[in-house]
Amino acid sequence: MNQPEEKFMKLAIQAAEESAANGDYGHGAVIIKDGEVIATGYETLKSANDPVNGHAEIDAIRKACQELGQPYLQDCIMYCTAEPCPMCMSAIIWAKMESVAYAITRDDMIAEMERLKKESGGNFSWRQIAIPAEYIVKHGEPKVTLFPGFMHEESQKLFDLTGK
Ligand SMILES: [Zn+2]
Repeated sequence: MNQPEEKFMKLAIQAAEESAANGDYGHGAVIIKDGEVIATGYETLKSANDPVNGHAEIDAIRKACQELGQPYLQDCIMYCTAEPCPMCMSAIIWAKMESVAYAITRDDMIAEMERLKKESGGNFSWRQIAIPAEYIVKHGEPKVTLFPGFMHEESQKLFDLTGK
């Protein structure tokens, strides 16, 4: 079992910063196998007008599968800056990944959404689906190990980048 390493989450945070600099949401993902970076995923939802492949986790999975020439990513760990949405968490299971480390949790995202809603006088809304990654793992097969809140503190700065 791979234990998460800070150096790889730093790469995911770097990818998130690059996405944000490009006008997209500040999300990033990397996929590691045997201590090597196989793929880096960027959020391109807005710049590519793509709400599916534009998620950083999906981008990383697609690139990693191309890189390895196979549809499965056994023995791979994903580092993503935020808790995967239900679409991405499902894709992680379809790809048979071993584990996922994420920094920002769903609770962080909900708190930030509430803060922005208040700030905008109720005009702000974020798309969200109230299904935690943990729930999908529990109901999915094969099982994926989650490392929630990994480098939590360091990730909180990403909220300030999004939308700027
Ligand atoms: Zn997603």
